[in-house]
Amino acid sequence: MEVCFVEELEEKLIKALQNSSDRTLLQSDLWKSINSSSREVSRALARMEKKGIVRREPFTGDSHKTYRVILIKKEQKVQISDVVWCSCFTCHDLSRCGMGQPISPENCVKLSMSLRNEFAKHQKSEELKKAAFSEKA
Ligand code: SF4
Repeated sequence: MEVCFVEELEEKLIKALQNSSDRTLLQSDLWKSINSSSREVSRALARMEKKGIVRREPFTGDSHKTYRVILIKKEQKVQISDVVWCSCFTCHDLSRCGMGQPISPENCVKLSMSLRNEFAKHQKSEELKKAAFSEKA
């Protein structure tokens, strides 16, 4: 229950910062904008700062001290385009496949081939980047 609340609060803070200009808001505006308390948001931001999601800089306004909160990283989520190369997505044996079963990822040639092809593509792309970088230098 507590973990769920923490994740929900962090997600709300990330959304508020994403919707702001320059992904930046004052902490004193941030907790009001998501209808939370100053204390809860302060704790959440301290955790998020440790995880490298936000950065806080001291800010002195007209009458009060607060922090300028900057969103520096949205936790990455896997997109379908990142994994669509995997043979399992189009495999007719998917429903019968499992660890320790006769049909298994442990001895699957199709999966090995798709992993090898993806790795080769990644290597080629890295080589091209290095070549382009060394041409510029
Ligand atoms: S591991 Fe092989 S057999 Fe199993 S679902 Fe993936 S491609 Fe199909």
